[in-house]
Amino acid sequence: MNGYCGKLLKVDLGSGIMESVPLSMELTENYLGGSGIGARLLYDLLGDKLKETDPFSPENPLIFMTGPFSGTTLPSTARMTVNALSPLTGLWGEANVGGYLGAQLKFAGYDGVIITGASSKPVYLCIGADKSDLLPASELWGKETFETTDLLQVRHAAGSRKPAVAVIGPAGENRVLYASIAHNKGHHFGRSGMGAVMGAKNLKALVVSGSGKIEPADLETYNMVRQRLAGKMKESMLAQVLNLFGTNCGTDMGHMSGDVPIKNWQQGEWYDGISALNGVAFDSVLTGRATCYACPIACKRVVEVKEGLFKTEEGPGPEYETITSFGTMCLIPDAAAVSKLNDRCNRLGLDTISCGCTVAFAIDCFEKGLLGTADTGGLDLKWGDAETVLKLIEQIAVRAGFGADLALGSFRLAEKLGGEALNYQSTVKKMEAPMHDPRAYHGMGLAYATSIRGACHESGVSMAVEHGTMTLDGIGLESAYPGQSSENKARLVQLSQDFGMVFSTGALVCNLGGMIYDQQDFREALSAVTGRSWTLEEILRCGRRIWMLKRAINLLRGAGAEEDRLPKLLTAALEEGGAAGSQPDMDKMLMEFYELRGFDAAGYPTAEVMCGLGLEDVLESLIKSRK
Ligand code: SF4
Repeated sequence: MNGYCGKLLKVDLGSGIMESVPLSMELTENYLGGSGIGARLLYDLLGDKLKETDPFSPENPLIFMTGPFSGTTLPSTARMTVNALSPLTGLWGEANVGGYLGAQLKFAGYDGVIITGASSKPVYLCIGADKSDLLPASELWGKETFETTDLLQVRHAAGSRKPAVAVIGPAGENRVLYASIAHNKGHHFGRSGMGAVMGAKNLKALVVSGSGKIEPADLETYNMVRQRLAGKMKESMLAQVLNLFGTNCGTDMGHMSGDVPIKNWQQGEWYDGISALNGVAFDSVLTGRATCYACPIACKRVVEVKEGLFKTEEGPGPEYETITSFGTMCLIPDAAAVSKLNDRCNRLGLDTISCGCTVAFAIDCFEKGLLGTADTGGLDLKWGDAETVLKLIEQIAVRAGFGADLALGSFRLAEKLGGEALNYQSTVKKMEAPMHDPRAYHGMGLAYATSIRGACHESGVSMAVEHGTMTLDGIGLESAYPGQSSENKARLVQLSQDFGMVFSTGALVCNLGGMIYDQQDFREALSAVTGRSWTLEEILRCGRRIWMLKRAINLLRGAGAEEDRLPKLLTAALEEGGAAGSQPDMDKMLMEFYELRGFDAAGYPTAEVMCGLGLEDVLESLIKSRK
C-alpha cells in the first residue's frame, strides 16, 4: 500500500483499550484518504444509530485522518483532517489543519486515529511508533492551548525533537459549539466544533511523534513531478505574494470586486478600513514567517504587538478569514487589535470565523434594537469596539454571562431572539459562512448552499476556479467564469466538489499552494505515490462517491433540500461597492445543480446515481429512512 501505512489506531476512551487495525485496500481505492475514508468509517461505525446519535455522546467517533501524500515531500500537502458529527450543525462535521501533525502520524506508522467512547477523567493520547498511551490530563484541564502545547512538547521531547501536538483549550472543555483544536499553536482545526467533541470525550490532547518514512511507489515519476511543482512554485507570483503577505494578500483586490464581507454583510465598501487591514498594514506587527511541513511557500505569519491596549507576545498571526471575521465584519480597522483577538481565540480554542461572525451578528442586533443590555449583561455593543469584543471572546470560552448565548453560534441566538433577528444571521446548516461574498461570486453562493459541513469555501475548488486563480483544463470546466453571473455555475460547483473531494479533502492538498497544481500534476503525483494509475475520470468518480456518501449522512440526519439555502443576508443586493446590485440566482443554480447531481425535489439522489457509485448499502439506508 504505497502512500499509506496500512494501519489505523483505534482507541476506546471508555475502556482504555487501544489496538492497531488494518486500513483496508477497499477503503483506499474507493475513498482515497482524509475525510473520504473518515466518512466511510463514521458511517460504518454508527450504522443504524447514525440518525439519533448525539454529537456529544460517547458513541460519536472522532476520526483523525491523513491522506496518501501526508509525510511525502510533495509541496503543499501537509494537511490532515478530523471528522465527527458536528455539535454546531448536527450533521457531518470536518475540519482541516496544516502544520506537522499529519506527517508525524504517518511517521509513527498510522494513517489515522479512530477515537470512540468518553473517558471518565481528563486524559491525553500519546502516539509513537513503538507504543501509544493514554495518560492522565487532570492537571492540564482548564489550561489554554499554548501553555498546554509548551508543557507537552517539553515533556515528550526526544532530545531536540519536539512532538506534534493537537490540544483543546477552555472552549473545547466547555463545549462551545464552535470550539477548535489547536496544533502546535499556529495551526487550527477550526470549523464545525470538533474541539467541543474532543472536550465531551474528556480528551485534552494528542501528542504524536514518529521517525518512519513514506515511500512512493514510483520514485522516478514522483521526483519528476515534485521537481516540476517546486519549479512552478518558485516562479509563481501567487506563491510569492502568499509568502509576502500571507492569506491576506488579496484583500485589496477582494474588496474591489465586492468579495470581502463588511459590517455583517451589509456594507459594500470600506476603503479606510481595508487599508488598515490589508497585507501591507499587517507589516506593522509582522516579526516573521512560518510554514507547514515540506511547503516552500511559508504563508504563515508571526506577529507581535509590542505595546498598548492590545499588547500581544510574539506568536502566530491572523489569516485572511480571521482578519475579516473580526476586522471588516465588526468594523475594527486596527491590525494590532485584530492580532490580539486572533491570539485570544487561538489560546482559548475558538474557531475565529464562527466567533467573529457571531459577535458581528450580536453587534448588528444590538445596534438595531433587537438586543439590549438586559441580554448582554450590561455590555454596550458597538461597531468598531475591539475592547468589548475581547471581553465577549473571554466570556464565550467559559460560557459566562452573554457568552453562554454566543457560545451556541449565531443561528441559535437568532432563533432565541426570533422575529427580525433571523434576517441578520449568516449561516448555512447552522454554520457561519466564511469570508467570501456570494454577491461577488455567484458560484460561491451555490457552493455554500450545497456544501456538506455547512457554509464552506474549502471542500471544493470552485472558489479558486471562479476567481481565476486555478485552471483545471480537461475536467470540463471553462477557463473563465464571470463572478457576478449565475450562468454555468451549477456545473462549475458540481465538478469542483467532485474534484475537491479527492484533491483537497481526500489527498489533503492545501487549497493555497494547491492552486499551483493543475490536474495533470495531481494525477501524476497520485499515481506515482500510490502505485495505482489514476485517470481523471476515476478521480472524479471517487470524488462523487465521497461527496454523495457525506450527503447521505446529512440526509440520514434529517437535512435535505430545505437546508440547501443561503441566508437572506448573503443574497440581498448592496447599494455600493464592487458587487453593488448583484444577486445570485439561487433558484436557477439550485435547480440546475439538482439535475446534474440526479436529485429529486427533496434533495435525495436517485437509485441509479447511488448504484453507479457502488453505494447500494447507503441507498438502502436512505430508502429505509424515508419510509
Ligand atoms: S501554502 Fe501555507 S497553509 Fe498551505 S501548506 Fe504551505 S505554508 Fe501551509
